[in-house]
Amino acid sequence: MTRITLVQGDITRQSVDAIVNAANSSLLGGGGVDGAIHRRGGPAILEECRKLRAGHYGKGLPTGQAVATTAGDLDARWVIHTVGPVHSTGEDRSELLASCYRESLRRADELGARTVAFPAVSTGIYGWPLDDGARIAVATVQEADTAVEEVRFVLFDERAYDAFARQLP
Ligand code: ADP
Repeated sequence: MTRITLVQGDITRQSVDAIVNAANSSLLGGGGVDGAIHRRGGPAILEECRKLRAGHYGKGLPTGQAVATTAGDLDARWVIHTVGPVHSTGEDRSELLASCYRESLRRADELGARTVAFPAVSTGIYGWPLDDGARIAVATVQEADTAVEEVRFVLFDERAYDAFARQLP
């Protein structure tokens, strides 16, 4: 059984096996969580991301997929980068958002990570409504077949924390 915990705070301050990054498909950095992770994690993460772009991910990381790198100076062993969908009112992209959580946990299992910190993927710059983003995040983790022991959702502010808290018993 995977334990789900909630923390209000900065994901780059977490001490876990793997920190999930709400990346963009370029893998070369951005704003929000992505910017914070690269700032605090230092150049080693970007260096490995560039290698991924030069190799298997020449066109970038597709939406809904996940890939792992070193965590650099963060208090974690790995950063798992996943690309959330941009929210759309014209098209239901929920399955892609669920895929981010599923694929990140699959990477975590490949690595042997037992504790994984997630941000609320897509709910920032990508515009996903917080309540729906929280619902998909929690439901997908609850349904996942994974050896990860703790999934820690790290929510930046009280509004996000409350949205996730409403999804838990
Ligand atoms: P996306 O592009 O997938 O929407 P963002 O990084 O813009 O990703 O935002 C995802 C969520 O993470 C938002 O709810 C945002 O408030 C939150 N967030 C931003 N910075 C941090 C941080 N340092 N730690 C945890 N959550 C953060």
